[in-house]
Amino acid sequence: MNPVAKAIKIIKDETRALESERVELSHALGRHLAEDIIADTDLPPFDRSQMDGYALRAAETTTVPAKLRIVGESAAGRGWHNELNPGEAVRIMTGAPVPVGADSVQQVELTRELDGGSEVEILEPVSLGRSIVKRGSEIKGGETVLRAGEKINAGAVAVLASFGYAQLSVGKRPRVAILATGTELVAVDQKPGPDQIRDSNNFSIAAYATPAGATVERLPLAGDDIAQLKRQIAGAAERCDIIVTSGGVSVGRYDFTKTVLQELGAEIFFERVALRPGKPTVFARLPNGTLVFGLPGNPVSVSVTFNLFARVAILAMQGAAETELEAATAVLSKTVKPARDRDSYLPARLSTNENAQLLAEPLKWGGSSDFVGFVRATALIIIPQATGVVEAGTRVGVVRLPE
Ligand code: AMP
Ligand code: MG
Repeated sequence: MNPVAKAIKIIKDETRALESERVELSHALGRHLAEDIIADTDLPPFDRSQMDGYALRAAETTTVPAKLRIVGESAAGRGWHNELNPGEAVRIMTGAPVPVGADSVQQVELTRELDGGSEVEILEPVSLGRSIVKRGSEIKGGETVLRAGEKINAGAVAVLASFGYAQLSVGKRPRVAILATGTELVAVDQKPGPDQIRDSNNFSIAAYATPAGATVERLPLAGDDIAQLKRQIAGAAERCDIIVTSGGVSVGRYDFTKTVLQELGAEIFFERVALRPGKPTVFARLPNGTLVFGLPGNPVSVSVTFNLFARVAILAMQGAAETELEAATAVLSKTVKPARDRDSYLPARLSTNENAQLLAEPLKWGGSSDFVGFVRATALIIIPQATGVVEAGTRVGVVRLPE
């Protein structure tokens, strides 16, 4: 049985990035860059004042009050483009260019204008370079600001705008079909009859897949019926890059997902992972190239296996540099008794204590079907196979669940 890390490696090896597409900057948020982003100008593009005040020579303010002649005004978007001579000052606003000859800005609060604005008295000495952001100090034209594979967040959108990227190349979104299987399932708007339950996996998988960048299609619920499963999977494969099923991958008499994948000629890369919860997870590829993740039916197993495995493929198809959940170490706040024969990924809630230490609190949960207990989880505690009891206070590895 593959350990989790091996299963993830197999997924990365078998997933090809989709091609890129051009999008308008206003549609770039959350996408992944398919090109390096290069600064087309220095930033700031000129020596820029950080304050409203007076541009001057610092050496002329060592004895205060110092009287200087006001020779002009530099405002944002309307600079003063002469040279400042000794004994002179220029009234300057935040964001305005600092004139040649000035080396510092004294803020307006530490000055007083005299003679109806022809002179200014500097009340406090200014240190050299004060309140000036030098041209190119943030970035130089030609430098790489962001790299292909990075996810575009709000900060990146600002960077892209600053360097003139009205359109840009991003990885295409994978089309993901979601299929919940199980004869016991009824739709969310139905009242379950005896022996029935409402489907939740179709919705939780969509809720995880969408922020990961997928375009999601929820298929109609499928019963445990080979012909129906075959029809639905084959149909979805024609228009989707990835199919994520839930249920029917275990060893029960009505678990047909693997049978159906075999009958459709799929290459099965793994059909079990040494993982708790989530052991019967299947990863396969249909003859036309569509990837299939067959997740177990239990809602908590779905959350764990989707985020550990299917999410990796969704991100890799977009060319993402980071495809795995963010890892961290935390101090275990309660003793846990994990499975010995598999890697355990235990639902947990992270918090920070008064010493700024990250704490992981294992959640009380009734096993892989207890998704009500799972609601509060923000992370999974990783206890490697064969570890045995882990005492409270031990440092453990965790991965954060996406928000
Ligand atoms: P299975 O993997 O098909 O053996 O299902 C394991 C458990 O998960 C069973 O109790 C199922 O009823 C439950 N289950 C399967 N699919 C869903 C679903 N879409 N929503 C909620 N529970 C499910
Ligand atoms: Mg089932």
